[in-house]
Amino acid sequence: MPNPSSSVSPRSSARLLIWSVLLVLALLHAVAARANYADIVSAFETVRTSTVFPVAGKTFDDIEETFGPRAQPSLAGSYDWHRGIDIDGAGGENVVNVYAGVFEKIDYTESAGNYVVIKHTLPNSVTYGTNPSKQNWTTFYTYYMHLTDATVTHITDQGWTKGSNIAAGTVLGYLGATGGSGGEAYAPHLHFELRFGTSNPLSNQIAGDGLTATDAWFDPHMHPMLLFNPNDATLRGASLASSYTQSLAAQAEGTVPDALSLLYTSSLDELALVNRFVVEVRPAGGGAAVLSHTLDFNQRTGFDASTNALLDEQDTTKPYMVPLAFTDAQTNYQSSIAIPHGWLGGYRNDGSYEIVVTASDVWENSTSLTVSAIPEPSTYAALAGALTLACALHRRRRE
Ligand SMILES: [Zn+2]
Repeated sequence: MPNPSSSVSPRSSARLLIWSVLLVLALLHAVAARANYADIVSAFETVRTSTVFPVAGKTFDDIEETFGPRAQPSLAGSYDWHRGIDIDGAGGENVVNVYAGVFEKIDYTESAGNYVVIKHTLPNSVTYGTNPSKQNWTTFYTYYMHLTDATVTHITDQGWTKGSNIAAGTVLGYLGATGGSGGEAYAPHLHFELRFGTSNPLSNQIAGDGLTATDAWFDPHMHPMLLFNPNDATLRGASLASSYTQSLAAQAEGTVPDALSLLYTSSLDELALVNRFVVEVRPAGGGAAVLSHTLDFNQRTGFDASTNALLDEQDTTKPYMVPLAFTDAQTNYQSSIAIPHGWLGGYRNDGSYEIVVTASDVWENSTSLTVSAIPEPSTYAALAGALTLACALHRRRRE
């Protein structure tokens, strides 16, 4: 491309330079003032080259429950927001620090059991949240829960105190089954959390600072898979195909009452990396959306996250997930995604509109499904063949 300033006078060049500097300053200011989730994703991408999986010898295959809203048939349909990922083990495996940081604390609660917290610093500050005085974050925290009692002795032996440097891969303790909720005994697993910006959950921020939900900043829990490289062959596990795929398909009307039900499938064994659904109603054959909803797990868009309690309540007026496959017998991950009819406005069963659902994972790969009409029970069988679509996986690369 020719240099646009090569044919102008020296005085014009000076003016151009001044204007260029002013433009760059204005752009920098705009970027600094923005609350931007994409910046968080980018920040974690830079960290991924230096992270270690938190349980020695385990892979993505060993993740038994993933991050996000869950309604579990195995637990009588109980619903909550899972704020981390669960990595299964036999018990006693080394639990290691995932990224260089400093020791924050070891503590015990009835639900978390023995848990260790490590504080980390991102290479670059990230702007995020709604509170103007608390928007520039450089820290994130990792939580390691249900550790064995031998972990307490181990930490004492290390002599770590708050602020002690801990390298990536350092043994923090041992995978166990301490803690529990509502008298439920756990099988040995590591519950691993990533908290961005602050270690305080939203409800504690509101209580501690006397804030209301509207002037608090955000619930810091994020999908822990932001920390790991999707293409790391050593982490993907032996059972995974060389390429990771995800897809959407329509399910029969009535699979989930009063909802458009879609089947989300990921080739990653038992692990849902899904993070965002965008539901749009468009005129059939194309055109601008007349209705659009975004359901984003990391950003809590589409959920009432004004308190932790509300986040843990199932709200069937909003989309939710019903995981179908959490067993070792599965070779992929499947979940029903229920999109309540109420979310679709008056467009249900109107052949002049189509519904487009796009699912994106935590690494920003996406897949889409176009539903030309929401089938009634009697018409579903006729449509079933037409709705079996192969969904292309679009990978968005960032350099
Ligand atoms: Zn868990």
